[in-house]
Amino acid sequence: MEKEEFRKRAHELVDWMADYLIQKENYPVTPQIQPRAIFDQIPDSAPEKGESFDAILEDFKEIIVPGMTHWQHPAFFGYFPANNSEPSILAEMLMSTLGAQCMSWLTSPAATELEERVCDWIRDAKGIDKTWKGCIHDTASTATLSALLAAREKATNYQINENGFQGNEKFRVYSSSHVHSSIDKALKIAGIGLNNLVRIPVDENFSMISEELEKAILEDLENGFHPLCVVSALGTTSSTAVDPIDKISQITQKYKIWHHIDAAFAGTALILPEFQELIKGHELADSYVFNPHKWMFTNFDCTIMYLKEPRYLVNTFSMTPEYLKTKLDEEVNNYRDWGIPLGRRFRALKLWFVVRSYGLQGLREKLRIHLLLAQKAKSWIKDEDKLEILAPVNFNTICFRYFSEGLSLEKENQINEAWMNQVNATGEAFFSHTKLNGKYVIRWVIGQTDVTEKHIQKAWSLLLEQLQQTLSKQ
Ligand SMILES: *Cc1c(COP(=O)(O)O)cnc(C)c1O
Repeated sequence: MEKEEFRKRAHELVDWMADYLIQKENYPVTPQIQPRAIFDQIPDSAPEKGESFDAILEDFKEIIVPGMTHWQHPAFFGYFPANNSEPSILAEMLMSTLGAQCMSWLTSPAATELEERVCDWIRDAKGIDKTWKGCIHDTASTATLSALLAAREKATNYQINENGFQGNEKFRVYSSSHVHSSIDKALKIAGIGLNNLVRIPVDENFSMISEELEKAILEDLENGFHPLCVVSALGTTSSTAVDPIDKISQITQKYKIWHHIDAAFAGTALILPEFQELIKGHELADSYVFNPHKWMFTNFDCTIMYLKEPRYLVNTFSMTPEYLKTKLDEEVNNYRDWGIPLGRRFRALKLWFVVRSYGLQGLREKLRIHLLLAQKAKSWIKDEDKLEILAPVNFNTICFRYFSEGLSLEKENQINEAWMNQVNATGEAFFSHTKLNGKYVIRWVIGQTDVTEKHIQKAWSLLLEQLQQTLSKQ
């Protein structure tokens, strides 16, 4: 493509992008299509000759867009959001134009130094200890795996990195029974083994019971295990439950265990001072992760990991032996040594655009709107006799279900599942579910960039209308 053609096409696409952002709520949230419908519309071999941009764009509009789930739709209430925002999108455009690979300081000093500054900004805004340092990863899964590897290497004085497992390690990792699957995955990859994930019971609020944690550690010590790491959750994926960070830190200190805090979704709330007491005691922990790509208006992917002592991470991943380090290495960060991949995107740019564009005040206002909307939705559900809320609404996620005295749990679950599927099939809103104590519950997460009261009112009417329909079919 010639440069002048690029200019013309870029302008055209920007128009499409702006239209999309204005009209995004007119699309069905999820596409109502059959499996393979998209695959079958794509030719079975790559074109030998280049095609016109018009043809490509036409197919994008006709084949791809109708096959998308519209994550930025204000009535996308499922999973956790992966919200974006205009400043973040614009920064992504610049990132892809610069096309820089930011593995080390020298390969883009600005990327490295901006990353350090922006991580510091957000650390301070969240009330995280000022001595901690941050770095940006692709996802929380990667950050958590990195933390676990650093914990493993710290505990063995880097012996597993050097010599591999000797077969006598017997590591244990502890987490609440509501742990995110990324922790299971990290145990598999780190060579610790899924069976060495000890799932600590939770209380009625789905928070880890710290006394049970200590009991499990003591029992493991007695049986010759090596307690390695506790992964606590600040906002579980099921119900956004919060583990007692302070109490867990006391225990990990006492037994010299790495404490990693997984705040992937809810961590954004810490920029509101009233939530900062939730991380009391984090200064005694070792690492903390949260995803600006979930609830902080920054395009997927963007995860920040904070560490009390980054040297454990850097020593685990660095491929530069001590004696080869240059003077410069001590003055600058080479972020390739802070994680698994060598290559790195310039993710700090979009974060910088977002934080500067909203300002901390603007971000806080936006979060407060979401929290307020969640309280509204919660009160509507509470006032409905046939509905119940099964977990504390700690942030902006509501776990609710239909119930009826005369029905078996199995029947109730079946009705709730049918209800949610019917709502989703309308394409007007999208919800996902979880199970709490065996009960099927619908999760309503109100964190979309452009969600307003109008959207949740509409969703509420839809929920009630579809519940009637579901019940009438029983
Ligand atoms: C979403 C989530 C993750 C995984 O996040 P990725 O960035 O997709 O890897 C981990 N933990 C919790 C609590 C989450 O909500």
